[in-house]
Amino acid sequence: MTQNSTNLVDTARQLLAIESILGSDWLLPVSRNKNPLPPLQPAEHTSTATATAEAPSPTVGDTLSPEEKAAALAELNQSEVNNCKKCPLHQTRNHVVFGDGDPAAGLVFVGEGPGADEDATGKPFVGRAGELLTRMIHAMGLDRQQVFICNIVKCRPPGNRNPAPEEVQACWNYLIRQLEIIRPRVIVTLGNPATQNLLQTRVGITKLRGNWQRLPDIGNGLAGTPVMPTFHPSYILRRYTPEIRGKAWSDLQAVMQQLGLTMPKK
Ligand code: SF4
Repeated sequence: MTQNSTNLVDTARQLLAIESILGSDWLLPVSRNKNPLPPLQPAEHTSTATATAEAPSPTVGDTLSPEEKAAALAELNQSEVNNCKKCPLHQTRNHVVFGDGDPAAGLVFVGEGPGADEDATGKPFVGRAGELLTRMIHAMGLDRQQVFICNIVKCRPPGNRNPAPEEVQACWNYLIRQLEIIRPRVIVTLGNPATQNLLQTRVGITKLRGNWQRLPDIGNGLAGTPVMPTFHPSYILRRYTPEIRGKAWSDLQAVMQQLGLTMPKK
């Protein structure tokens, strides 16, 4: 067997393995990530917007054990976020949706805001879009309890509209403190509002997705954290084409590569 035919067989095996996890209707084709992120060195851990040669200073999240991170997140939720009335969204919410998962996760997914199912349960990403996100996480060889999932705003914008700038502003500090405590190795932003707010850009998700970005200096020790923008699962469900699904899967594969994860076995 030639080298080329061996590669083709390996690729076919890999696709079959993925299909068994995602279901045949999820897939593909796999497109290549256009802008792989170089391995992160301490001196490179800086913002693209304010790049310097200095490594970030140690932060709260660097010095906490997983148990201390869990306690810090719980304290933030119980003493502040859960009773928050800093913006009008508190008037129509049923539950605050703080976020969920491993307090010491290497990977954090950030969406825009809770929907109806999340507002009813207090859990992030539990509706149809949540089911798809769960399948995407499983396809990466992880489960939800191994990552952290949260949103830009913690209360549901009525009618599932995008959060208004003043609502994002009011809630911003909670997200930053979550990220400062967790200190993830990689952040995946889901959709336009999460991507544009965290990267502080007006460039849209269609242009940004699939290309590694770095967090600007938005929090203590967060500058330079690798960010992979991808489609929001709700968008994938609305545009359920092989092309859209393939692009999203390509983005997640780049994240797996960055985290050193291997493709799950069939
Ligand atoms: S969205 Fe954020 S800032 Fe607004 S009330 Fe809810 S927790 Fe407070």
